[in-house]
Amino acid sequence: MVAKIIDGKTIAAEMRAELKAEVTSLFEHNIVPGLGVVLVGNDPASTSYVTAKERACAEIGIYSDDNRLADDADERQLLDLVERMNADPKIHGILVQLPLPRHISEEKVLLAIDPRKDVDGFHPVSVGRMVIGQDTFLPCTPHGVVQLLVRSGVNLDGAEVVIVGRSNVVGKPLANMLIQKSGTGNATVTICHTRTKDLAKHTRGADIVIAAAGRPNTVTADMVKDGVVVIDVGVNRVADSTKKSGYRLVGDVDFEGVSRKASLITPVPGGVGPMTITMLLYNTVASAKRFAGR
Ligand code: NAP
Repeated sequence: MVAKIIDGKTIAAEMRAELKAEVTSLFEHNIVPGLGVVLVGNDPASTSYVTAKERACAEIGIYSDDNRLADDADERQLLDLVERMNADPKIHGILVQLPLPRHISEEKVLLAIDPRKDVDGFHPVSVGRMVIGQDTFLPCTPHGVVQLLVRSGVNLDGAEVVIVGRSNVVGKPLANMLIQKSGTGNATVTICHTRTKDLAKHTRGADIVIAAAGRPNTVTADMVKDGVVVIDVGVNRVADSTKKSGYRLVGDVDFEGVSRKASLITPVPGGVGPMTITMLLYNTVASAKRFAGR
C-alpha cells in the first residue's frame, strides 16, 4: 500500500477561504474580528511565528494589534498590556507568544488573559471547559489535527488512536478532544510517553497514530499496521549539508518507510503546521461572533 497524503496546505487554504467569507459577512454588520498579539524579545523562531500569524490575519481581514516589547520588559508592563487588551472592545482574541523570557511568569500572564479572549486555549478555564465538553476555545495545534482527520474523511467513531506525547499543548488536549462524545470524537485513545514500556505494542494495534514527541524516527514502519492513518505533529531540524541553511525539517515519523504501509499520512512540512495558524484565525472569528451575540 502507498499512502495518500493528507495535504495540510490545501485543507488550511480551504478553511481560510471559509473564514474569509465569514469575516466579509461580519463586515456587513460592522463587526471586524480583532487579535491582540504580544511578542517579548526578538527570538528568531518566535518572531517568525508572530509575523506569520499577523500576515495570516491580514489576508482574511482580521484586524491585528501588534505589540512588541523589549527583552528586558518587566512582568508588570506585560500584565498592563494584557489588561488593556482585555478591556479593548476592538480585540476579540489575545495571543501572547511563548516562551516568555525567564524573568516573566508565563502562568501569571496566561491567567491574566480574559478567558473570553483566550484564543490560544491555554487558560485553565478554557482547558477545564474542553475537558468537560463545553463550548470553548480549543488549542490550535490539536484542533488542527482533529480538522485534518475529519476533513480527510477518517472515521473516528470507535477508532483506536495512539498519541505519542503528553504535553499540555499537543498530546493531552488532543486526547481530550478525541474522546468527547461528539461527531469529532468517540475514539478510544491511548497516550504514550517516555515511560511507556513498549511503545510499538501500542502503535501496532492503532487505527490512527499521532506522533507529537519532538524526536525524529520515533515511529517507524515496523511499529504500525497496514492501512494505519498517521498524523505527524513533530518538527525537528536535522543536519543537511545539501541545504543552504545546513538543515532540513523532518517530523517524528519515518515518512518513507511508514508511507508504504499507511493509508493516509501527513508530510512534514506541509501537514499539521499550516493548520495551527488557521485554527487561531478560526478561534478569533468565533470569538468576534460570540462577543456580537451571533
Ligand atoms: P514536548 O513538550 O517536548 O513533549 C514531547 C512529548 O513526547 C513528551 O510527553 C515526551 O514524554 C514524549 N516523548 C518524547 N520522546 C518520546 C519517545 N521516544 N517515546 C515516547 N514518547 C516520547 O513537545 P510538544 O510541545 O508537545 O511538541 C511535540 C512536537 O510537535 C515537537 O516536535 C514540536 O516542535 C511539534 N509541534 C508542532 C506544532 C505545529 O504547529 N506543527 C505545534 C506544536 C508542536 P515525557 O512526557 O515522558 O517527557
